[in-house]
Amino acid sequence: MKKVAVIGSGTMGAGIAQATALAGYEVVLYDVSDEILAAALASISTSIDQGVKRGKTSAEAAEKAKSAIELTTSLTDAAATDLVIEAAPERMELKRDIFRVLDAAASPHTLLASNTSSLSISAIAGATQRPDRVLGLHFFNPAHIMKLVEVVRGDDTSEATLALGHEFVASLGKTAVQCLDTPAFIVNRVARPFYGEAFRLLGEQVADVSTIDKLMKSIGFKMGPFELIDLIGCDVNFAVTQSVYEAYFHDPKYRPHPIQRRMVESGKLGRKSGRGFYSY
Ligand code: NAD
Repeated sequence: MKKVAVIGSGTMGAGIAQATALAGYEVVLYDVSDEILAAALASISTSIDQGVKRGKTSAEAAEKAKSAIELTTSLTDAAATDLVIEAAPERMELKRDIFRVLDAAASPHTLLASNTSSLSISAIAGATQRPDRVLGLHFFNPAHIMKLVEVVRGDDTSEATLALGHEFVASLGKTAVQCLDTPAFIVNRVARPFYGEAFRLLGEQVADVSTIDKLMKSIGFKMGPFELIDLIGCDVNFAVTQSVYEAYFHDPKYRPHPIQRRMVESGKLGRKSGRGFYSY
């Protein structure tokens, strides 16, 4: 694999594009407008420069990575690659539409991957004529730093596709863990009570946001639940919670909390909007 496309240049797409460019791939970064792409490229450049300052990346590798990223608003351009990693909003119909278009435009060897946190890879693959070459590559936030990637096997994903997925993850210097196509895979499923109980504590006014975060950090978590939700995006966290709740046929243990909806509806999306549970 030489050329990799990333669909969506938001929190995750930008990080995946950065990690992929730094690993020596040519990268095609897609989004719905030139303005969004320009902002994403600026933030990727800043982040790569920070890596140089910290001694993690050489100046030469940084320049090479920056010039390896091509921007596009055409899905057909993005499809002309060896691997496409979709990191668009967490909505099944949107993802299926994107995969339908990519499938029609891509050459037969191209692998189509989704970075979905919770949606079914088999259902996304069902929108294509190549379900054997569709897989999940679930990166963690921030994607250019976090080592873990869940490689998700859909019902029809072939062994060859999985092997290439593992090889690609290793080539980024990351660690792959293989998952079945179950709602929210491993990490996000395990993490549901971390968020859910925090919302219940907050809703019942047992403690405030910063107290809950401090308590969780005092027992060893790197971030408290509300700090983490602000990093993830309150909208993304809410969408994932809703999708897991639906996928488990409204099992009450996965029920979203009204606070989540209120945060999203009032535009408090976390770091990316400047305001969430904290101000930035
Ligand atoms: P985000 O909101 O930061 O970015 C989404 C990007 O998609 C934006 O740049 C937006 O302009 C673009 N977009 C909008 N409509 C589009 C379309 N029709 N086609 C292509 N792109 C479109 O979201 P994110 O946090 O980067 O999440 C993206 C995906 O990654 C979701 O599936 C999410 O569940 C998953 N994910 C998120 C995290 C996280 O911590 N935020 C972690 C792992 C996986």
